[in-house]
Amino acid sequence: NGQGRLIVVSNRVALPDQTATGGLASAMRAALQERGGLWFGWSGKMARQTGDDVHRLTDGPVQYTTIDLSRSDHDDFYDGFANRTLWPLLHFRPDLVDYDRKHLAGYLRVNNLFAEQLMSLIHPSDLVWVNDYHLIPLAAMLRERGVRNRIGFFLHTPLPPASLLIALPRHMELLETLASYDLVGLHTARDRRALEEYFLHEVGATMRRDGRIRTPEGRSFRAEAFPIGIDTPEVVASASHANEHKEIHDLKQSLEGRALIIGVDRLDYSKGLPERFQAYARLLERSPQLHRKVSFLQIAPPSRGGVPEYRQIRRDLERMAGHINGMYAAPDWVPIRYVNNSFPHSLLSGYYRSARVGLVTPLRDGMNLVAKEYVASQDPDDPGVLVLSRFAGAAQELAGALLVNPADTEEVAEALGVALEMPLHERRRRWRQMMDVLEKQDVTAWRNAFLRRLAS
Ligand code: UDP
Repeated sequence: NGQGRLIVVSNRVALPDQTATGGLASAMRAALQERGGLWFGWSGKMARQTGDDVHRLTDGPVQYTTIDLSRSDHDDFYDGFANRTLWPLLHFRPDLVDYDRKHLAGYLRVNNLFAEQLMSLIHPSDLVWVNDYHLIPLAAMLRERGVRNRIGFFLHTPLPPASLLIALPRHMELLETLASYDLVGLHTARDRRALEEYFLHEVGATMRRDGRIRTPEGRSFRAEAFPIGIDTPEVVASASHANEHKEIHDLKQSLEGRALIIGVDRLDYSKGLPERFQAYARLLERSPQLHRKVSFLQIAPPSRGGVPEYRQIRRDLERMAGHINGMYAAPDWVPIRYVNNSFPHSLLSGYYRSARVGLVTPLRDGMNLVAKEYVASQDPDDPGVLVLSRFAGAAQELAGALLVNPADTEEVAEALGVALEMPLHERRRRWRQMMDVLEKQDVTAWRNAFLRRLAS
């Protein structure tokens, strides 16, 4: 069903002149290029009033329409309900959930404004693809306005079990609106089961024989797992040219033959960074022979600085990095290189390839693309080892990784030791297993599978 256009809706839009950082951005862009369509979302800018400024841009078959948000809509919708309420809830952190009716009101207000703007942009034959937790009620709001198009939703975070979801005040009003979509996509079978459980036990829905979930109001929708992939051929190509970059050469030279452990994460409490630093410290404590023989590079660009927990974790990590370096550093060796900058994919792939170990230990993560990028960036003749949290969606697919529980300092330290010692034949075997998955289930296969299902 390649007839109608594709309308992509997400909180942020990757404009054609911006370098798309996330895998999501390039996936959406490619889908839009192929099919023609429109990408709608927030401009990332603030204006006096939400929707005052509508920015339009056309690039071949793709149109981009973005709107500015007012300061208060931004604070209530984005910093507030999306990132202080939903994000911690969805990442299994009810202790960090900050619920405020004012924030919820802002969240609904912005979703309504999105619906209002979109109304005039959608043609009857368009497929609509809404992304992520910022926009859960959008389909319900479009339906209220008479939109009858196929509308799909993809949740890029994990979904916790019903027993946790019900901790959210007025959870039903929000989560029930998922039934207004035709298709709800999640990363893993575990996330899908959580959604099913919530609808069956909390909403009182039933399972139809064709697998659709039917609410007491008579709405029915499909929930399915579509594990997102990366642009594998592109990452492979970019990593194999990594040596052409001076930055990669400089990194290697600075290592002076030491084995590199690398972590790359947005500075977010869901990424398990303090636990990771602790585990690395434990490795140094129990393995004096590794002193001056290894180096840990943690790249951690700050995000969501408007949310207090993010400022706190940044302070905690600065203190920990300083403490560990103070404990173990030598005049010619710094154990942790802690970098608060972000880097383009072209460089990241080279950094990944220079590392003997990829250390990816989120406490919870929808998928974790960094884990996949690390693997795809390796030199097939001499690949590194992935140490991966069981609680990343990627752990469901990457059986060749050393899987760990990030809360178990000792286990992570041991896995690091094993990874650093792993013989070449085993590294190759594990890497091949993971590459097979990444080659088959890349981002193109992901979006095609989702769109095919939505259109069917
Ligand atoms: N990323 C990047 N530059 C950086 C750090 C991260 O381009 O300096 C990219 C990274 O390559 C990956 C994405 O940001 O594609 C992060 O996705 P992931 O699923 O790992 O985590 P998220 O940030 O979405 O929680």
